[in-house]
Amino acid sequence: MDKVKALYKGKAKTAWETNDPDFVIMEFRNDTSAFDGVKTASLERKGLVNSAVDAFIMQKLSEAGIATHFERRIDDNNVLVKKLDMLPVECVVRNRAAGSICRRLGIEEGRALSPAVFELFLKNDALGDPMINTSHCVTFGWATQEQLAEMEALTHAVNNVLAPLFLDAGMVLVDYKLEFGLFKGQMVLGDEFSPDGCRLWDAESGRKLDKDVFRQDLGDLVESYEEVARRLGVELP
Ligand code: ADP
Ligand code: UDP
Repeated sequence: MDKVKALYKGKAKTAWETNDPDFVIMEFRNDTSAFDGVKTASLERKGLVNSAVDAFIMQKLSEAGIATHFERRIDDNNVLVKKLDMLPVECVVRNRAAGSICRRLGIEEGRALSPAVFELFLKNDALGDPMINTSHCVTFGWATQEQLAEMEALTHAVNNVLAPLFLDAGMVLVDYKLEFGLFKGQMVLGDEFSPDGCRLWDAESGRKLDKDVFRQDLGDLVESYEEVARRLGVELP
C-alpha cells in the first residue's frame, strides 16, 4: 500500500491517504510538542521508537479482544491502520494523580486513584483542548450517549490490560489519552498508544519515563522512550 497524499499533518504524526479508501498510513514523525504546541523539537529516533511501542501495545489490545485500527507496521516509522471517522473527543484515564488534575482539583501528585478516573476533553487546539462532560458531547453532537458509554467501557477494558502489563515491566501507568473513531459504524480505538500520550513512572524510584522528561527538561527524551521499549521487550533497530 502506497502513500497517495497527506490527509492531515498533526503535531507528531501525518495521516496519509492510500489507494484503498478504508486504510490510511500513519507516519510517526520525530517532531515532539508539549503545552499545546508551545514547546517543540525534532528528536532523532523518536518516531521509530513510538511506532514500535504503539504496534506492540495495539497488538496486545487486539489479542485481548479490543477492536483497534491497527493492521500492520510497514517500516520503522509507518503503520497501516483502518481509516476511522474520528470522534473529536479525547478520553483520559488516570490511575495516579498527575498533570492537569493536580492543577485543576488540588490533588497531590502521585495519589492512587481507585477506581481510575475517566475524563473527557474536546480535541480542539485553538481552545486548548478544554475539559468537557457527556452533556456537552450530546448537546453539541460530538458523541452520542451510547457512543460515550462504549468509549468509557473500552477505555476501562484497555486499562485492565495495560496497567498490569506496564507493572510487570516495572512501570506505573499513571495516566494516558485515548482517541476513538468509527469504522463502518463500529467503535474502534484509533490514534496511538506511545510514551508521547501517557505518563509512566519507574515502579521503584518514581523516575519519569514519558513526555514529562521533555516538558520538564529532566533529561534525554528518546533515551527514556528507548528504556520503556526495552522494558516492554519491544525490539528496536
Ligand atoms: P494532533 O492532531 O493531536 O496534532 P497527531 O500528530 O497525532 O495529532 O496526528 C494524528 C491525527 O490523525 C489526529 O488528528 C488523529 O485524530 C487522527 N487519526 C488517528 N488515527 C486515525 C485513523 N485511524 N483514521 C483517521 N484519522 C486518524
Ligand atoms: N494527553 C495527550 N494529549 C493531549 C492531552 C493529554 O497525550 O492532548 C495525555 C498526557 O500525556 C497525559 C494524560 O493525557 O498522559 C493526561 O494529561 P493531563 O490532562 O494531565 O494534561 P497535561 O498535564 O499533560 O497537560
